[in-house]
Amino acid sequence: MAAYDVIIIGAGHNGLVCAAYLLKAGLKVLLLEKRSVPGGAATTEEVIPDLAPGFKFNLCAIDHEFIFLGPVIEELELAKYGLKYLYCDPSVFCPHPDGKYFLAYRSLARTCQEIARYSSRDAEKYAEFIDYWQTLMGAVSPMFNAPPQAILEIASNFNSSSLKDVFKTVGSVKKALDFIRTMISSPEELLDEWFDTEIVKAPLARLAAEIGAPPSQKGTTSGLMMLAMRHGHGIARPQGGTGALTDALVKLVKSKGGVILCDRTVKEVIIDDNNRAVGVKVAGGEEYRASKGIISNIDVQRLFLELVDPAAVNAADPELGERVKRRIVNNNETILKIDCALSELPKFEAGGGDREHLIGTVLIADSVKQVEKAHTLANLGEIPDEDPSMYLDFPTVLDPSMAPAGKHTLWIEFFAPYQIAGAEGTGLNGTGWTDELKNQVADRVIDKLAQYAPNVKDAIVARRVESPAELGVRLGAYKGNYYHLDMTLDQMIFLRPLPEIANYKTPIDGLYLSGAGTHPGGSISGMPGRNCAKVFLRSQKSFLGLF
Ligand SMILES: Cc1cc2nc3c(=O)[nH]c(=O)nc-3n(C[C@H](O)[C@H](O)[C@H](O)COP(=O)(O)OP(=O)(O)OC[C@H]3O[C@@H](n4cnc5c(N)ncnc54)[C@H](O)[C@@H]3O)c2cc1C
Repeated sequence: MAAYDVIIIGAGHNGLVCAAYLLKAGLKVLLLEKRSVPGGAATTEEVIPDLAPGFKFNLCAIDHEFIFLGPVIEELELAKYGLKYLYCDPSVFCPHPDGKYFLAYRSLARTCQEIARYSSRDAEKYAEFIDYWQTLMGAVSPMFNAPPQAILEIASNFNSSSLKDVFKTVGSVKKALDFIRTMISSPEELLDEWFDTEIVKAPLARLAAEIGAPPSQKGTTSGLMMLAMRHGHGIARPQGGTGALTDALVKLVKSKGGVILCDRTVKEVIIDDNNRAVGVKVAGGEEYRASKGIISNIDVQRLFLELVDPAAVNAADPELGERVKRRIVNNNETILKIDCALSELPKFEAGGGDREHLIGTVLIADSVKQVEKAHTLANLGEIPDEDPSMYLDFPTVLDPSMAPAGKHTLWIEFFAPYQIAGAEGTGLNGTGWTDELKNQVADRVIDKLAQYAPNVKDAIVARRVESPAELGVRLGAYKGNYYHLDMTLDQMIFLRPLPEIANYKTPIDGLYLSGAGTHPGGSISGMPGRNCAKVFLRSQKSFLGLF
């Protein structure tokens, strides 16, 4: 049997990033991945080969922002392994049924000019609002790139510019109290305080709700920084799709001697008599051993409640099992994903069908109320498809290489419940989701889209619809939560996933946590992978000082 220092459960992008840092430090690393391809929620796949050959789809993540708040791309020299980013400018187009539209460019001034067509006050306030969130981001992002409880290391990440941002954000009693109030308010309350028009409020609410909560939910305002990021470093996509990030990481991992084994579903973490994690068992019974540790890239609930013997969890911390089970919050909202192959681009009536508007994200968000319903109903187990709000992209406008010449793809994210109320015990895994239902919902979503771009229905040559239950199965994520657990304030930073296991270590010797369920959370950032690698290497005395 091959000898490894470390086994990583799951080859999501965070697992791969973590592996890359460990390999660079000289460790022997094995990644075991459940699917037949690595990448987790960061893949690009030709998933409709019969009806739409040559069309490539980002099955999950598409728009990258958070990764630019950290050093992963540069430190791992991912450009050398083929990664190239293409920037979206404009970054957001939100057409309304009455022909009005919100259009955000990377340039703040140009965006304000667009808003001023509807409200000069909102245009002015928008500039102030974005400045506030950019400053706040500058103040907090040094925290993202360090283990959340490593106070000295966090302090060392601050430079003169980020310290200036800290001062601007909390540099007086009034500012500090305003900051606290901002963080514990709801996005809706803040938007009402700042703006008058739905033209500005609705897309901001929709982007804030990407955190996975309705805009009325207190403690979720950090989602409002989404547009600030798009005006700052910008929003970009890897050429060739999000899978190109995974491909670059895979090349790097393999070039350093790392081993990635796909079609290996880890069923058990092997714990020895000293209560130390020493290996894993996969479906089929095969065992793999690691001398220095096991790192989980999967959600902590499945790890502790399904893969580790309860007696071992209990022996390490008698309260942990119960806290993992009951304290971690995972609401009922996830995504119904629709990917379409198109014969031509949809022509949106708002904005006169300008192709440039489709470079970035297109939001169907007519009002804050519509966005509110989209998320609240999903949480209640109802499908919000009476008046669907959605997030879409036409990746081929920016990157024609993702479809045959002259053809296009459409990426639609529609929030939907994981468990349908009243349908318990039916459908896939008892969630109520069936093929018939998911296609009915997709039809309603496309009907709504056709109200803005009437040619869209005729342009669709093939489509793939993935229900929330299917997404959960594909990702192996608990309740289909692609953030592994909710991103509310009570589960962030040194509280993620729980205070006692927030520093990537667990009370079981040799068992570590990474991935979206650890600080600083979900999305494409690579930060949980990098931070976990740091903690791991520091725990191995011979590697002290390498990071
Ligand atoms: C539809 C959708 C759209 C999204 N859009 C965006 C976006 O535009 N921008 C953005 O930044 N983020 C987006 N996200 C979120 C983002 O993709 C994820 O938060 C992020 O990719 C999580 O990465 P990870 O490596 O931490 O975990 P994952 O990607 O979940 O990786 C976990 C890995 O573990 C594997 N695994 C699970 N169980 C086992 C097991 N028992 N044994 C072995 N392997 C196992 C899984 O197959 C997977 O490969 C989106 C997510 C979805 C679902």
